[in-house]
Amino acid sequence: MNIGENLWHDIVEKLKEEFSETTVGLWFGSATIGSLDGDSVTIVAEDDFKKSIIEKKYLPVLERMFEELLGFKVEVRVDSATGDSDARSEERLFVTSAPPARPDPAAQEKPAAGPNLRSEYTFDNFVVGSSNQLAQAAAYAVAQHPAELYNPLFLFGPSGLGKTHLLFAIMNEVRKLHPNFNILYVTSEEFTNELIDALALRQNRNLAFKEKYRNVDMLLVDDVHFIAGKYSVQEEFFHTFNALYNEKKQIILTSDRPPRDISYLESRLQTRFESGLMADIQPPDTELRMAIIRKKAEEYKLSLSEDIVEYLAERLRGNVRRIEGGVKKLRAMQFFEGKKITLDLARAAIADFVPEEEPEHNKIEKTLDKVCDRYNISRETILGKKRSSNVVLARHTCMYILREGLEKTYEEIGAVFSCDHTTVIGG
Ligand code: ADP
Ligand code: MG
Repeated sequence: MNIGENLWHDIVEKLKEEFSETTVGLWFGSATIGSLDGDSVTIVAEDDFKKSIIEKKYLPVLERMFEELLGFKVEVRVDSATGDSDARSEERLFVTSAPPARPDPAAQEKPAAGPNLRSEYTFDNFVVGSSNQLAQAAAYAVAQHPAELYNPLFLFGPSGLGKTHLLFAIMNEVRKLHPNFNILYVTSEEFTNELIDALALRQNRNLAFKEKYRNVDMLLVDDVHFIAGKYSVQEEFFHTFNALYNEKKQIILTSDRPPRDISYLESRLQTRFESGLMADIQPPDTELRMAIIRKKAEEYKLSLSEDIVEYLAERLRGNVRRIEGGVKKLRAMQFFEGKKITLDLARAAIADFVPEEEPEHNKIEKTLDKVCDRYNISRETILGKKRSSNVVLARHTCMYILREGLEKTYEEIGAVFSCDHTTVIGG
């Protein structure tokens, strides 16, 4: 498969998560990706009828999916493999007065994909390193033995480090081990909104809310810190928590910080949250960043040389979402431009993700400052004509750094020291 086919394959898989196989097979079964440029993708539908259905029903979904996979927005256009669409529709007018009389599966799609369908987040593709080891091990243990070991499990750490990924990995694993388990995943915003709706409406809505939340075998609440400061939400959450806990049901929570640092969180909830296992996730170190880049490249079927992996790991720090974005962008650029992945392409791919390089003259200034500081001499002295041994040594050190570290040419170095380049070479 080439990378275009791969991308289309991934899109079709994503479609299957949101719509039934029949629907996807019917409209997209023999579609392919046609022409490409940096801003748009053209999908070639099997015929004009399918083209018109895709255009009417699926464009926003496709655009969202392409953006998720590529890391940036593209306009999705649809073409038909049978060519001239006006001629084709005229032809249909003569042949039959209406499209084939079959139920329109697009009208009976499954409800929009709940987050419960994110099957791509598994333990297998979660790369483990020292900064996320405890969280991963705890999540895995909870998936194997729900409500037996750590209850609640509280995962915390800054955004983009894999908390949601671990929640879905737990769900996907538990679904395999206990297909009948009633698992409920919500973000705390969803919990809040549902509760507000329930309170605002009639009594029986409120009962439905309680029933929904208290009859689960496993409750996962993502980004629970959002309930802080909302009195009635905390009140209800406290009762939900207790009811499930007393029934020995597993509760898993994530937050961007530990319970004690969540402002306006009631202390009785803080105590509950802290009563099981708390595991943090920290930003990945270089080794883990490299491992994640290798894993993502493998998933996207990109072959990256080690120097490119190192380059990306060095530049994409802090957040796994950025790493993923960088590798996706690289894949897209290779895909659109058909270029071999070189260091230059990698540099261009992540240009939007990393701050501009420091201007060259700043680097030279900084080098001069550091060396002067180290040899305890002034700017005038190092740039002047004195030839005492300390000053000559400082000058040579500076020239060496400019040459080897900053890859300046002899001419450029000569310009800094107001001498000609043979002096630089000769020392
Ligand atoms: P959080 O919920 O902590 O903000 P996410 O779980 O949404 O972060 O992770 C952001 C992205 O990074 C996701 O696409 C996820 O798959 C990916 N990711 C994070 N950590 C890892 C990891 N250790 N291995 C592989 N992918 C990871
Ligand atoms: Mg998250």
